[in-house]
Amino acid sequence: MNIHEYQAKAVLKEYGAPVAAGVAITDAGEAESAARQLPGPVYVVKSQIHAGGRGKGKFKELGPDAKGGVRVVKSIEDVVSNAKEMLGNTLVTKQTGAAGKQVNRLYIEDGAAIARELYLSLLVDRTVGRVAFVASTEGGMDIETVAAETPEKIHTIPIDPETGVTDADGNRLAEALKLDEPAKAEMVALAKTLYKAYTEKDMSLLEINPLIVLDDGHIRVLDAKVSFDNNALFRHPDIVELRDTTEEDEKEIEASKHDLAYIALDGDIGCMVNGAGLAMATMDIIKLYGASPANFLDVGGGASKEKVTAAFKIITADPNVKGILVNIFGGIMRCDVIAEGVVAAVKEVGLKVPLVVRLEGTNVDLGKKIINESGLDVVAADDLDDAAQKIVAAVKGA
Ligand code: ADP
Ligand code: MG
Repeated sequence: MNIHEYQAKAVLKEYGAPVAAGVAITDAGEAESAARQLPGPVYVVKSQIHAGGRGKGKFKELGPDAKGGVRVVKSIEDVVSNAKEMLGNTLVTKQTGAAGKQVNRLYIEDGAAIARELYLSLLVDRTVGRVAFVASTEGGMDIETVAAETPEKIHTIPIDPETGVTDADGNRLAEALKLDEPAKAEMVALAKTLYKAYTEKDMSLLEINPLIVLDDGHIRVLDAKVSFDNNALFRHPDIVELRDTTEEDEKEIEASKHDLAYIALDGDIGCMVNGAGLAMATMDIIKLYGASPANFLDVGGGASKEKVTAAFKIITADPNVKGILVNIFGGIMRCDVIAEGVVAAVKEVGLKVPLVVRLEGTNVDLGKKIINESGLDVVAADDLDDAAQKIVAAVKGA
C-alpha cells in the first residue's frame, strides 16, 4: 500500500525526522489560510499523487509551457493562484503513464534554501536478506539513471537486524553522502530514526529523494515516498487509515476484496493463472510472441469457484483486454473448479473477446468436459507455448 508524501512526512515526523512545516488542502479556498500558517517568504505548492517525478511532470490541461506539479513561489497570492491552477487537473509524470493522475490534493510546504540534494532510501536487499540503506550524492534526479550511468555513485549499506543501525553504519552513510558537521551527526541520528520507522511500521520502501543539506548546514527530508507491506497491514490500523483508494486502480481494489493477487498492466491480453511463478512465465511468453499482458493475476492455490468468477469478471471488465488466456496447472487448484468459475463468469457478463484455455493437472478431463459442454467459444490449447501463440494470434488477427 502506498501513501501520499504529506502522510509519509507526518509518519516520519512522529519518529523525529526533520521535515518542513506544511498543510495539505483539497480546495483552493483553503490555500490562503494554509500558507498563513507557514513562516514564508518562500512556499512550495506540491501535487499529492501516488507517483514520483511530479516536479518535471506536465498538466494535461495546461499545455507544455505551464509549470510542473511542484511549484516554488514567493508570495501567499502566488500560492493561491497556483493552487487554483493545479487542483483538479491531470498531472502526467514519468511514473503515471500517459493517462496521468488527477491532482485532488496539494501540500503547501515551507520553502527550503537548498545547498545540496542527496538520495537516501531503505529497502529489503534480497541478495543479503537484510534491510539496507541506499545512498547517493546524486539526489533530486531519477535514481535509475544514476544507477545505470554512474553505478559507483550508489552506495548500499545493509543493516544487521541484531544490532540495528550502529554509529558506524551512520558514519558510513554520512561519508557516502559527503556530509560535514552538523549534517554528519544529524545523518547518524536520522539513519536510526528511519530504520526504526521502517521496521516498526513494516514498510517495504522508504525513499527520500531528495534529502537536502540546507544553506545553514542542517539536513531535511524534502520528499518522501513510502510503501507498506500489505501482508503486515493487519497490525497497523493507523496506517490503513491513510489509504487513499482514489489513487488506486479500481480493478486492483476489487481484486483485493476477493483476496486475489492482481496487478493491472497496460497490455491487451488478460491472464488468469494459478501460481505466481506460472503467472510470471505466462507474461514472459506472451511478450516472447510479440504481445503484452494486461495484468498479472494469480488466483492462488485453493481458489473457490466464486473467487475464479470474480477474477474473470475483473479481467473482462477491463476495456484494454482484447483477448483472455486462462493458463492453469492444477495441483492443489483443481481444473474443474477453474472451468466452473470461467463458465459461471461468462454466463453472467458475456464474452466479447477471444478466450484461450490451457488446463493441465488435477481433474483436467473433468475441467475440459465442463468447458466443452458449456457451449462457450473457447480455443483449447495443449501447453504453455501453444496457448501463448494461439492467444497472440487471436488478438493480432482481431
Ligand atoms: P518529485 O520527486 O515528485 O518531483 P519532489 O518533492 O522531490 O517531487 O520535488 C521536486 C523538486 O522540487 C525537489 O528536488 C526540490 O528541488 C524542489 N522542492 C521540493 N520541495 C521543496 C521545498 N519544500 N522547498 C524548496 N524546494 C523544494
Ligand atoms: Mg522527489
